[in-house]
Amino acid sequence: MSLRLVAILMLGLASAGRAQGTLDVLIKGGSVYDGTGGAPRIADLGIRGDRIVFVGTAPAGTAARRTIDAKGLIVAPGFVDPHTHIDEDLADPVRRRLPGFLLQGVTTLVTGNDGGGSPGVAAARARLAQGVGANVAFLVGHGAVRGAVLGMAARAPSGAELDHMRALVAQAMREGAFGLSTGLYYAPGSYAATEEVIELARIAHAAGGYYDSHIRDESSYTIGLLGAIDEAIRIGREAGIPVHISHIKALGVDVWGKSDDVVARVLAARATGLRVTADQYPYTASGTSVGSSLLPRWAEAGGRDSLKSRFGRPDLRAKIAAEMVENLRRRGGAEALLITEGKWRGQRLAQVAKSTGVTPVAAAITIIGGGDAAVASFNMNDADIDRFMAQSFVVTGSDGSAGHPRKYGTFPRKIRRYALDRGVISLTRAIEASSGQTAAIVGLVDRGLLAAGKFADVVVFDSTAIIDKSTYESPATPAIGMRFVVVNGRLAIDRGRPTGALAGRALARGQ
Ligand SMILES: [Zn+2]
Repeated sequence: MSLRLVAILMLGLASAGRAQGTLDVLIKGGSVYDGTGGAPRIADLGIRGDRIVFVGTAPAGTAARRTIDAKGLIVAPGFVDPHTHIDEDLADPVRRRLPGFLLQGVTTLVTGNDGGGSPGVAAARARLAQGVGANVAFLVGHGAVRGAVLGMAARAPSGAELDHMRALVAQAMREGAFGLSTGLYYAPGSYAATEEVIELARIAHAAGGYYDSHIRDESSYTIGLLGAIDEAIRIGREAGIPVHISHIKALGVDVWGKSDDVVARVLAARATGLRVTADQYPYTASGTSVGSSLLPRWAEAGGRDSLKSRFGRPDLRAKIAAEMVENLRRRGGAEALLITEGKWRGQRLAQVAKSTGVTPVAAAITIIGGGDAAVASFNMNDADIDRFMAQSFVVTGSDGSAGHPRKYGTFPRKIRRYALDRGVISLTRAIEASSGQTAAIVGLVDRGLLAAGKFADVVVFDSTAIIDKSTYESPATPAIGMRFVVVNGRLAIDRGRPTGALAGRALARGQ
């Protein structure tokens, strides 16, 4: 017998063994939503190793090391969160288990958003070799790239500096980044002209990535919400790259009701063939810092020391304060800013001002001078949130960051309050917009759908029990209702409890 024939016979035996042998996990009789947006059906789901081997009816006598009775429960693809801020979690040996995300059903997280992602993607991925609770995909951040080349300088790059930035983006894409993120509202991203971003987006596109943007203005600060949407679309068109708008919103009283115009612009761009999508968290408050919400960006040019010296000059201090008064009005006033960390945690800026006997802006300057603090900024209205959510191009994204309940509640909150209770969208749509559609936007391979051959990232939840429990007062309270969460074939949540398994992987584009 030839070696070749032996090999073929052995291969045949092995695949027969795989088809008929014991499963690792069998999820029986659940209501299966496969993540495509198609109608649910009652089915079994078999897992062997890190893959789904079938979705359908398990033959009688199918053996499994673990059988989960999912009767009356919903079985769906593990959720994909396209926007998070989890650097600190990933650096901590306990927090990197990511239980707060797993208890929402999130099995894959994108990080490096808002321009913040380090160009050192290979190193970031290597650090996760120690284990991580869910899959993590990295974006390279324009702000980080610009910062590495130009620091906090508020000027255009020279030709050589732009080449250096291009090289950093190209390197990050080679190291597995899924795309380029920008934070054009924040310093130093705000110092970049549109053309600079287009140049770097071209590099990301050449490597097969997408463009993810915290747009330049979600309100009426500079170019306005609609101007910023137009800029994002222009970047997509000129760089030829798919555009993904982070945490889409109409921020502040000046632009309330403008969601209609935003939607019209995005739909018009999509009608020309450009891929434009967005994500959204279902809360009326955004999460940022006192400085980022109120300081004019020019005041931050050069970094913290420059800011301090500007505050030291009476003329500049007065100019900054005057602009802060206007920015505070845009955000709804001192009652609309809730401090969520540090000395004044739990107090509105108005209370801080009152108790210290100064104006709200003077109180804000003191907080910024003391190292700044996170805030929940109540600046959205429900009509805009509902209108955005109902769009076919809008998916779920937590923007999870410390101090805001969205980090622990986004996915269950959307399912419970927006789909099941209020019917803003259907449950099928909520699941699709939290799994298959998002996986396609990010470019994940074999994730986001329940089908044979896909990675076994699976959630099993109780639709009567699922709900977010995190609040602005208690932002880190985990959600409830997830019964089982499987990551790469391993149980990360078992009967509602985190197992501590480090079943996640550092993903790379194309793999
Ligand atoms: Zn952002």
